[in-house]
Amino acid sequence: MAKPQTPQAIRGTQDIFGAEAEAFAHVVETFERVRKLYRFRRVEMPVFEKTEVFARSLGETTDVVSKEMYSFDDRGGESLTLRPEFTAGIARAYLTDGWQQYAPLKVATHGPLFRYERPQKGRYRQFHQLDAEVIGAAEPQADVELLAMADQLLKELGIADGVVLNLNTLGDGDSREAWRTALIEHFAGVRDQLSEDSQERLEKNPLRILDSKDPRDKAFVGDAPQIDQFLSSEAQDFFAAVTSGLDAAGVAWTRNPALVRGLDYYRHTAFEFVTDRLGAQGTVLGGGRYDGLMESLGGSATPAVGWAAGIERLAMLVGGEDVEFDPTPVFAIVPDHPEMREEADRIASCLRSTANGKFYVWTYYRGQGKKLAEKAKRENVDAILYVRKAESSGDVLHLTNLKAGPEDAMSDLWSILGRLPAPYDSLSGEG
Ligand code: ATP
Ligand code: MG
Repeated sequence: MAKPQTPQAIRGTQDIFGAEAEAFAHVVETFERVRKLYRFRRVEMPVFEKTEVFARSLGETTDVVSKEMYSFDDRGGESLTLRPEFTAGIARAYLTDGWQQYAPLKVATHGPLFRYERPQKGRYRQFHQLDAEVIGAAEPQADVELLAMADQLLKELGIADGVVLNLNTLGDGDSREAWRTALIEHFAGVRDQLSEDSQERLEKNPLRILDSKDPRDKAFVGDAPQIDQFLSSEAQDFFAAVTSGLDAAGVAWTRNPALVRGLDYYRHTAFEFVTDRLGAQGTVLGGGRYDGLMESLGGSATPAVGWAAGIERLAMLVGGEDVEFDPTPVFAIVPDHPEMREEADRIASCLRSTANGKFYVWTYYRGQGKKLAEKAKRENVDAILYVRKAESSGDVLHLTNLKAGPEDAMSDLWSILGRLPAPYDSLSGEG
């Protein structure tokens, strides 16, 4: 009989393992620490929503809605979509769950998103984002706090060098509309020379032409009308408050008047943190103000601002085989005789229940003595705790420190060992 074939993973999904998985976890842990520092409340959101949640929030003409969504009819015949982003679902929850009472509400989450894109390095069909939103705040200080938080996250990840904050304003609704009309006029004159995609975007979503990577479009982007000509004085004041707030907070930024964001819901502040260290997929974090979104979902006008960052792209910047994210020392427990295995396990569980994050305990399912100790050394543990058979003389526990450090953890371990009940009152050690 032929061996049954093993099914392959879905194109554009990832099985994350090893150093990449450690880098991924490090990004999420750092985000959790930073969002708590800024007092953003954690939320957990559904992975799917009714299709209209995204279609109405993002706009039918956006790439995400028109080409990238994983939508399907469920068994009840309802059209559902795997979330391609967090913001629309959080906005829906804000309206349906009565979160208005907490306004201004600061929330953060992370998890998988789904977009039908052409898979390549840094671009997947299931990818993961960190997400932070401030809902119900019209003040530019909310934009500033979010950007300061993003900036601090990159600094704490140690990747701020070489990542530049590109900042723009799209103005208020009126400014944006006037700019849009002028862009249509500008590009209509050269319509035939634009890429097919941009010809299609022309009436529906002309801002997106500014964002095009096609050289045929780029030729006409340079002298396209810029938003500054159309900004109302309120919009100008708002942007000035954001930039001066960033300066006060010590957040470096650069003005990029061609920066637009793909989604319809953006107003005022738009931003991206961009690096040239990841090739074409250089945007690691993007967001902006979305004052128009709640109304498109049938809610009352609600100012809001937020950002999302690609965890894989951040992990690629911090990662590398040789990066050690966690300096906590590891102690291996090594029995010197098969009869001592149970004792070794007992000590391991005692140490683990009192370790309190100060050290980690590594145990083995088989093997003992010298051979096992050699294995532990190859695995780069910090110290070995030998569990010896109590003979007429000699100690029961023997600790060997394999590395110069870590003094604190060693003394913690010593004091825990010192409090173990008999027969472990016989301790010795070196290093
Ligand atoms: P891009 O221009 O790269 O397609 P985007 O504007 O579609 O990005 P956003 O919707 O702003 O991206 O999502 C925020 C962040 O999520 C991006 O800056 C990126 O880091 C990450 N991201 C978006 N799409 C993907 C994907 N398909 N695979 C991996 N990461 C992604
Ligand atoms: Mg995209």
